[in-house]
Amino acid sequence: MWRVIGHDWAVDLLDHSIETGRIRHAYLITGLSSVGKTTLTTQFAQALHCAEPDAPCGNCRSCRLIDEMSHPDVHLVSLDTVPEQERRTRREIGINQIRELRHTISLKPYAGKWKVCLILEANRLSEEAANCLLKTLEEPPSYSVLILTAVDGNILLPTINSRCQRLDLRPVATETIRQALVKTYGVEEDQAHVLAHLAVGRVGWALRASRDGEHRQEHQRRLAHLWKMGGASRVERMALAQELSQQFTKDIEEREGVQELLESWSCWWRDVLLVKEGCPNLVVNVDQLPRLREYAGQVPAGQASHALNSIRATQSYLDQNVNPRLALEVLILGFPTVKA
Ligand SMILES: [Zn+2]
Repeated sequence: MWRVIGHDWAVDLLDHSIETGRIRHAYLITGLSSVGKTTLTTQFAQALHCAEPDAPCGNCRSCRLIDEMSHPDVHLVSLDTVPEQERRTRREIGINQIRELRHTISLKPYAGKWKVCLILEANRLSEEAANCLLKTLEEPPSYSVLILTAVDGNILLPTINSRCQRLDLRPVATETIRQALVKTYGVEEDQAHVLAHLAVGRVGWALRASRDGEHRQEHQRRLAHLWKMGGASRVERMALAQELSQQFTKDIEEREGVQELLESWSCWWRDVLLVKEGCPNLVVNVDQLPRLREYAGQVPAGQASHALNSIRATQSYLDQNVNPRLALEVLILGFPTVKA
């Protein structure tokens, strides 16, 4: 039985392709981070190898080996498998890893019927690596199945897209996540309610946050930053913009941290607007209703939606490599003043 939260249509499609024996040589599974791409990918690999009637059973030797990524017929390529010395210089999947994949895939399956290659975060393939992978996609051995994942399929070469069956995963419904947290993972009702909302469709985030409080605390810290800014002077705001722009240019992980911060902020302002419009039941930050009401009372709707639009514009400027300090200064100086 597939153990996937949400994405029923994708499970049905993959299951059906196994049942009918119409398995494609390449799949591309896309969706935002933590939405469940890796889980679906891993279980598809298990389903291809598992011989139990209820495949993927999750318990047989084959399923367990795939969980540990040590199955002889399943090959993993991801940022985590980049050799240590290459990892320091850049965060991408290089050509050597794809050459290794091409070698592995040229050997017939050892134990099962299929040779399965998982390429996680295919959007991190270097140009060379992507072109090398294309050769395999053009002439795949009959026994091979490649499963690629990416946050956004449109970043990948069109030739990669056209050779894969694409499954675009959507954010999972809040209620689906809440029920899974309670029923499958034994999370308390109140906590499941808050986490399911904060997850904004990202199942993986909800599960991690239910196991350790760190994820939720991180979100709280980002909001605390925003609240502090409401009453901050121009000089203090400039200092914060500078601090964030330094963080943004430091390395890829810090850069992602800034992007996540902006995501939390945009979520906050959307919630403020929802409260102003009389829809507090739709907010993400369900545990912050009193403060959201305070904001909604102090900030006119025009200013709140301006703040939200500015954050979205800043996110896209930063993606396009606009001077980060300038972009962040404009954003932060323009935030409405809110008395604590
Ligand atoms: Zn199994």
